[in-house]
Amino acid sequence: VRASSLRGARVLVTGASTGIGEQMAYHYASFGAQVVITARREKVLQKVAEKCLSLGAQKALYIAADMASESEPDRVVDFAVEKLGGLDYVLLNHIGPSPFSMWEGDVEHTRWLMKVNFFSYTQMAWRALASLEQSNGALVIVSSLLGKMPSPFVVPYSSTKFALNGFFGALHHELVMKKSNVSISICTLGLIDTDAAMDKVRAHTNVPAYPSADAALNIIITGATRQPELFYPWFTHIVTLSKDWFPSITNYIIQNSYRYTP
Ligand code: NDP
Repeated sequence: VRASSLRGARVLVTGASTGIGEQMAYHYASFGAQVVITARREKVLQKVAEKCLSLGAQKALYIAADMASESEPDRVVDFAVEKLGGLDYVLLNHIGPSPFSMWEGDVEHTRWLMKVNFFSYTQMAWRALASLEQSNGALVIVSSLLGKMPSPFVVPYSSTKFALNGFFGALHHELVMKKSNVSISICTLGLIDTDAAMDKVRAHTNVPAYPSADAALNIIITGATRQPELFYPWFTHIVTLSKDWFPSITNYIIQNSYRYTP
């Protein structure tokens, strides 16, 4: 990809107040794109948008929204389409906060997390599809190794990521069969050094964490080159394959890679 190909691109990034989403916004900004960012905290979004402008974004607009709501996901897409006059890239990246602990039957939390991490993605994708169709656009889904390989302490989170992989993997087939102009990319990430992730896992594991700015750049390149899948870091691909080839070894490693005493 040439960075210049992203100049003027019309981009919507969700979960862009912190973490990987914030880093994606800065990369797009420095490529001269037009960005709409969203998350719940308006004050934080405002700061990120200001920084985007100083980095070279042609436009940087923000809209505060709660993705647990039934109407806000549509409102965010409509805002971006209206303000930018269409969309070239939609990056669905937000996640609701979820504890790092064993599941003790909190069905209500699981239901809420499904709304934030899954249902809002399906709704935004559908709402943006017509606009992406017109622009030969790309839809990018930020998922996780935990959406391919079940893992302890993150039962609700892992479920939402499995749901995303199932939904968007199936939708990918349909778009190809319909000869749609829209590409779908599903990004499988390993541990990334965002504050939210590190605060949770630091005490429990020594799994290496990769830099969020680099993860963000790899996600952007995956969307721009319309690749169906990203594995970042690369060995998440090996892990994904080996869990099916050698399930008992993989399970043993997973269950013993955390500090835990019952
Ligand atoms: P963060 O927790 O740092 O950021 C989450 C973002 O989502 C924030 O901008 C937050 O902003 C927003 N958000 C939270 N709740 C809501 C809500 N109800 N409605 C709208 N927005 C909301 O996440 P990361 O940057 O660590 O992760 C980004 C993506 O990468 C996620 O999809 C995650 O699953 C994936 N990933 C991350 C890994 C990691 O190790 N970090 C590993 C594998 C995958 P606000 O609070 O202002 O709403």
